[in-house]
Amino acid sequence: MSKHGYVPRARPDARYSLHSRLTPSLRRENVLPAPPHSRDMITDDARTLLSTGTICDSCLGRPFAARSFGLTNAERGQALRTTVALADDEDFESTEPADCWVCEGYCGTFDAIAETIVDELVDVDFATYQVGTRVPPLVEENERLLREDAGLEPDVGESMKREVNREVGRRVGAMTDTDVDFDRPDVLAVVDLEGFDPLEALESGTVTSHAVDVQINPAFVYGRYRKLERDIPQTEWPCRECGGSGVQLGDDGEVDCEYCGGSGYMYDTSVEQVVRPHVVEAMDGDEGTFHGAGREDVDARMLEDGRPFVLEVKRPRIRDPDPAALEREINDAAAGAVEVEGLRLATYEMVERVKEHDASKHYRADVAFAEPVEKDEFDAALAELEGTTVDQYTPERVDHRRAGLTRERTVYEIDGDLHSPTEAEVRLHGEGGLYVKELISSDNGRTEPSLAGVLETDAEVTALDVTGVEGEDEPFELEAYFRDEPQTDRDDELTETTD
Ligand SMILES: [Zn+2]
Ligand SMILES: [Zn+2]
Repeated sequence: MSKHGYVPRARPDARYSLHSRLTPSLRRENVLPAPPHSRDMITDDARTLLSTGTICDSCLGRPFAARSFGLTNAERGQALRTTVALADDEDFESTEPADCWVCEGYCGTFDAIAETIVDELVDVDFATYQVGTRVPPLVEENERLLREDAGLEPDVGESMKREVNREVGRRVGAMTDTDVDFDRPDVLAVVDLEGFDPLEALESGTVTSHAVDVQINPAFVYGRYRKLERDIPQTEWPCRECGGSGVQLGDDGEVDCEYCGGSGYMYDTSVEQVVRPHVVEAMDGDEGTFHGAGREDVDARMLEDGRPFVLEVKRPRIRDPDPAALEREINDAAAGAVEVEGLRLATYEMVERVKEHDASKHYRADVAFAEPVEKDEFDAALAELEGTTVDQYTPERVDHRRAGLTRERTVYEIDGDLHSPTEAEVRLHGEGGLYVKELISSDNGRTEPSLAGVLETDAEVTALDVTGVEGEDEPFELEAYFRDEPQTDRDDELTETTD
């Protein structure tokens, strides 16, 4: 098919040979008059299409959809029908879609379909939409036959599928004051034309809701969490003994699982369980998924500015909750074990951002030594480790199903205080993926160099805090990943004064 879309077959095409005789500059400047004969050829094609049987204006206009931007196919069809009637001096007869052999009436149901879609979306918050259509195979075959009977290319002009998508979509947009988005709409309505009888729909002006499947795409809330207590996993962790059921089989049937005490979880709560219910409820969604920018050990706290996360809400009926109010609600309910900050409405891309963006980490560790250490030895050891690239073989404590390999990670900065000959605090900033506990202990020689190795005494992290997670090249929080304005200082002031 040519890019002009409309290509009459079985006719030598004078237009193109004329074009090719002209110099490129003339063509570029668009000084050509309308190609000769083309109007007559269109009339001929329209006349032939009309001779295939009774067809409606939309179906007559659709093969010419590439012409005259700004017209609907029905307007093209009506104009062609008028032109043929005038040229042939025949009585003008309009045709209703109900009588059309090609669409079998579907081209008259755009309003009814759009109203059903809007009804289905009445309780749903959305700013963008897309309409998709399944066209019955028999109707698609009619479209092909129509063109074949008229000697046209089998796919010239526009398909019925595209026309329904556009015409119904246009109506949905106008009725709901929303915009079409072909990339990632808030809602997607899929119309199955086979799901209703077009003649009944024309009669009643409605379409059964069974023919319309409304999908609501997820919505996303970004934030940073702090974990102020140890032994809280980031995400929900089902009990490994009962698989999360909370029960086990006793002599007399099911009893509470001994391992988890019947809760079904390894730990009482998780950051995910603290955050998720509030976000899902505020967005009136069906369920939620927590995505963290990496994770700290269960026994490590997450302090200072916290760790970025995104909560993904499935099938949200509300897309614009107030992030400041949501933040207060989560923090009140979490009662100090977990805190969230900087909540904002985020784009879909933010999920990949938090999961993939390279981030360095800041840590604070309490360290115990097996033998007394002198202050100058300690300081010298830290100085030796600062800026070093460390070889770390997969630690023993890490999942054994994971293939062992040696990773290189850089210690950007490290310093610390020796509190007693056998106790120290170490603070460090390291490349993402650096195993800190092993940097201190050497993990039986699997990490080289290490603090224990340099000091030639056993060393162990007794308490670990993550004190910062920051993007290596640029911050996580770029405005392009947000759908709302940043929370202002004014919100904070309001919170303070009303508390
Ligand atoms: Zn039709
Ligand atoms: Zn259990």
